[in-house]
Amino acid sequence: MMQQIYPVSPHSYAYELNKDFHFAAAHYIPHEDAGKCKVTHGHTYFTNITIVGDDLDDTGFLVNFKAIKDLIHKRFDHEILNKDAAFSDDDATFFPTTEVVARTIYEIVQDYLHTLSNQPVCLQVYLRETPTSYCIYRPKEVGK
Ligand SMILES: [Zn+2]
Repeated sequence: MMQQIYPVSPHSYAYELNKDFHFAAAHYIPHEDAGKCKVTHGHTYFTNITIVGDDLDDTGFLVNFKAIKDLIHKRFDHEILNKDAAFSDDDATFFPTTEVVARTIYEIVQDYLHTLSNQPVCLQVYLRETPTSYCIYRPKEVGK
């Protein structure tokens, strides 16, 4: 995979960890204004997750890279996103658009981080859906 630096807002945390991975998934956007996106189709999503913190855990990690990948890849790879409980065909807030998928990845990762003793937080999720389009989700309040 090509190494890439993603734009991250300035912060004052001591450690910043970035994890890249990709997953293949299908989706459709259940709205009459979605054009061709109404029809089920697939993407290879490229994801970069930025996690920050000031304290390391007992193993010297801010967070385990593999644990972060597993949270998302095991759940969404080779799945139809619309069928996942995180998404809905009835409420646009939960249609699996790039924006909503990025936010959902953030929520899954941040929920996991809350369980860790050293309390790292997710600063942003970068989600590339196609070679020419991506979304960055940054929470309004870090750690919420
Ligand atoms: Zn699509």
